[in-house]
Amino acid sequence: MFCNNCGKEIPDNSVACQNCGAPTNNQLDSGNPGYFFLGCCIPIAGIILYFVWKDQKPKNAKKCIIGALASIIASVIFYILYIFIIVGAVAASGF
Ligand SMILES: [Zn+2]
Repeated sequence: MFCNNCGKEIPDNSVACQNCGAPTNNQLDSGNPGYFFLGCCIPIAGIILYFVWKDQKPKNAKKCIIGALASIIASVIFYILYIFIIVGAVAASGF
């Protein structure tokens, strides 16, 4: 990654620039698992935050989008299972 202040290349995990001392996005971009649960509970918020944060806070953004996708995939699987149960119940009833 590159320092936002002076533009020097610095290690990806540093919290401050070694050249000028400016704080990096890593201080804010913790990749907190809470963002995963946020994305799970409110997928649309997770998707919006992903696009807002994907450049400045890639770790947080990734947690948001993974949570949102997990939630959407779980919903789709649940929906498919629901359809199968309905179809199965109709078939079992003799139609
Ligand atoms: Zn710097």
